[in-house]
Amino acid sequence: MEPVTPEEDYQAKYMQSEERFRKIFSLTSAATKIIDENLVILEVNDALTDLLGYTKEEICGKKILDFACKQYIESWENLQHQMWSHGKPFFKLEACLKKKNGDLVWVHVTTIVYIDGDKRFAYTVLDDYTFMKSYQESEKRLNMSLKYSRMAVFEINLDNGEVMHSEGLKEVIGLNADQDKLDVEGLVNSFIAEDAVELRALFSHLPEESSIDFVGQVDVEHSGLKWVHLQGRMEPGENNAKKLLGTVQDISKEKQADQHKDDFISIASHELRTPITILSGTLQLLDRIKPKDDVKVSGLIDQANKSLKKVTILIEDLLNASKMNEGQLHLNKNLFNIVEAVNECCAHINREGIYKIQVEENLSINIYGDADRIQQVIINFVNNAIKYAPDEKLISVKAVDQGDAVRISVIDSGPGIDHEKAAHLFDRYYRVDSKGSQYSGLGLGLYISAEIIKKHGGEIGVTSENGNGSEFWFTLPKQNPIIEI
Ligand code: ADP
Repeated sequence: MEPVTPEEDYQAKYMQSEERFRKIFSLTSAATKIIDENLVILEVNDALTDLLGYTKEEICGKKILDFACKQYIESWENLQHQMWSHGKPFFKLEACLKKKNGDLVWVHVTTIVYIDGDKRFAYTVLDDYTFMKSYQESEKRLNMSLKYSRMAVFEINLDNGEVMHSEGLKEVIGLNADQDKLDVEGLVNSFIAEDAVELRALFSHLPEESSIDFVGQVDVEHSGLKWVHLQGRMEPGENNAKKLLGTVQDISKEKQADQHKDDFISIASHELRTPITILSGTLQLLDRIKPKDDVKVSGLIDQANKSLKKVTILIEDLLNASKMNEGQLHLNKNLFNIVEAVNECCAHINREGIYKIQVEENLSINIYGDADRIQQVIINFVNNAIKYAPDEKLISVKAVDQGDAVRISVIDSGPGIDHEKAAHLFDRYYRVDSKGSQYSGLGLGLYISAEIIKKHGGEIGVTSENGNGSEFWFTLPKQNPIIEI
């Protein structure tokens, strides 16, 4: 065998390393290309053809900028110029390329210049981060919409106190964004002392799959107190960790608007009471002194009395609502027969003869409570049934003995209420169709009813489906209620 000259040995080694390079080049999963000094693509690997959706033949001979999105061309060209003409060894940039099917693909570009023989080439790796980009963008969009609704989302691990949260959480609860990492104690302690005690107690007794709905105040340095609404739901985490997922929202503006409304209502309703009483007295007097056989005047007085009754109910609702809000509604409690109370408040409607109230009961139960207030709730349910289901002439009122409580319900077969809206019916000022409603009202009747029942230690609710009538119900404990306010 002929001895190998050093020249031949060098050639063989060069060929071997060239071959190794080509293998790596074609097999690597990162999209890669080689270009010459004129930026013309000489070679691409399979990963790059997969990335762009073009064949090798369609790509080689072209320049990568032919595939680049417009807004990146200038900066990319600049970097190329710096590398080829000003001796920079490499450059990096983030850019977007257009695939054959028109889709966009986002890449981190790294280009390195190298010399082979007496020529310069460049080697480029294009790292696809489209998935990451769309994730970042959707996170950005979410953070923006949370910010505009003055809201933040959180996940609390109640086992170790860790809190993960979206960008704006610290701002919502009045902390500086650069403050230390937030844990559950930090979150609780951002609330004023009495709210913090309540929230801590809530967090420590959260059963699986339960929900939390808490409104409290946080103290913000230099700008005072603000109202925050925290809602969440327990979801099982990894290894059965106790996790609470939810939102916090700054509701100071809504609270302030409610406060203005309350102030106005409280003043207006007080001011209206006196002229209404005088008007009522005047109508009674007029009724007494009118000529006996004057049918027309009698009719007018009747009509005026009906309208006056409506106005009086509205004013009573307003006064009651502002009293409730200030915690001033006092109950006048005595033992009374609940069924008698139900019958009593439905009697006048049956007498009028248009609607029939069918009371289903076979029990005689005494309840300790404020009979007038309980009757107010029943009358509100019945009046609503008449108001919102006017075509149905039969309204059922049921009284059922539940053992330790009595359940009263008013059932109509009217239009019903859809599930989502039914959850808010007992909120203050809530009306299902507040804008286009053909029925007058303030959205306070059910709120007042709920407050009355809660103060009796009972529960209140509605079972209804759109198009299938409604059942408004409440329960009252038979024992002396524990809640006495
Ligand atoms: P208001 O009647 O003054 O609006 P309420 O608090 O009594 O206030 O009722 C709140 C809302 O609940 C009403 O606006 C109405 O949309 C809905 N609602 C109450 N009772 C019924 C019913 N029986 N059927 C359908 N909707 C009802």
